[in-house]
Amino acid sequence: MKIEVVTIGDELLLGFTIDTNGAWLARELAAYGVTVVRRTSVGDGADEIAAGVGAALERTGAVITTGGLGPTSDDLTKPSVAALFGRAMYEDAQVVESLVRRWKAMGRTGDLPKSNLQQALVPEGAGILANAHGTAPGIWLEDERGRWVAMLPGVPREMRGLFADELLPRIRARLEGTPTVVRSHTIRTTGIAESVLSDRILSIAGLDLEGLSLAYLPGWEGVDLRLTARGLAPDKADARLARVAAVLRTAAGEHVYGEGHDDLAAAVLDELRRAGKRIAVAESCTGGLLGARLTAIPGASDVMLGGIIAYHNDVKMAALGVHAETLAAHGAVSEETAREMAAGVRRALGAEVGVAITGIAGPDGGTAEKPVGTVCIAVDGAGPAKSFRARMIGDRREVRERSAQSALSLVRRALLGTA
Ligand code: ATP
Ligand code: MG
Repeated sequence: MKIEVVTIGDELLLGFTIDTNGAWLARELAAYGVTVVRRTSVGDGADEIAAGVGAALERTGAVITTGGLGPTSDDLTKPSVAALFGRAMYEDAQVVESLVRRWKAMGRTGDLPKSNLQQALVPEGAGILANAHGTAPGIWLEDERGRWVAMLPGVPREMRGLFADELLPRIRARLEGTPTVVRSHTIRTTGIAESVLSDRILSIAGLDLEGLSLAYLPGWEGVDLRLTARGLAPDKADARLARVAAVLRTAAGEHVYGEGHDDLAAAVLDELRRAGKRIAVAESCTGGLLGARLTAIPGASDVMLGGIIAYHNDVKMAALGVHAETLAAHGAVSEETAREMAAGVRRALGAEVGVAITGIAGPDGGTAEKPVGTVCIAVDGAGPAKSFRARMIGDRREVRERSAQSALSLVRRALLGTA
């Protein structure tokens, strides 16, 4: 099956919003063997929408749109596409009812605003794709020749939910036989350079990727290894991905912390639970980022006690017990200071494990001896005290992100005894 995607919104053409909807739909559909043959973005105008969707419909007879289903006057997708199909619009009683229900459930008082009723206008003969994730329902419109347009909301979270709940089942029902799929499996690694990882993998005796493609995807979180199977039946693709992934995981060893979209912070919390230890964080240049990473994981409170942002040296001394002599002799950005910060926060908060970050995030503050990006990280209480000094690359934001990730990695390896 071939599909075109038309994303709708002036903000896409102005460059204020990046078309992540189109990219996401293309990836998702590929996994079910459906090819997106063209992606177009058009403005909010009724004529532009009709022209974009009309041309796509002529070419493939199968079109998904996102955006322009909202309650405001710039949301013209439904009437424009209805006109293409020669259908009139009517107010759907069930949609009105669900809008009113949602309005009340959100604790709003007064009547549903008139503008919202626009979301209940539906083309004659359309299928309604119920939106469990927001207000605007999606619309499925099909003509006598089986040509169809599926209209999804623009808000990415709603679009993804509606696609999975309502649209994907319809598309899959149209696919005949056993389709071949494009499917990927991602292994997440951290604390190992891309080149070192590649050497390790290439040195596996009798390495056989079984025709899968392997991509190295480096980023501030580490290096992801992505295996992709193309042109196979789903079960065959899954089996092959599982076999080859197991081989790669062994090669990457202790650097593997998860798969797919797994978060290193979640892996650290799991390791802490296994060890029966609780953690406290002391942060200078990351200013709470490490604490935010840990507390972003639901259920963190059983092993995450809290943290101290010790940005100024006075706070490092007063709140964490860092010695004035240590600061004078080695500086705030030193392994010695990081170690005292880690031990200090562990004591101050009564945790079993303390972790600390101190560094120069830039763009100013670097010296010849300690250039921008120099970061010292220490862990205390997870086996013997450990620390290291590293030079993080990137701008201020990236240095901070990399520092938090490295600190998580150190804690994990210290708990596993591989630091
Ligand atoms: P709503 O019911 O919220 O009005 P809508 O269907 O009218 O939804 P839009 O108003 O077009 O959707 O877009 C809502 C928001 O979704 C936009 O502000 C934009 O940030 C985001 N968005 C829209 N289209 C895309 C896209 N193609 N990719 C990523 N984000 C998008
Ligand atoms: Mg809108």
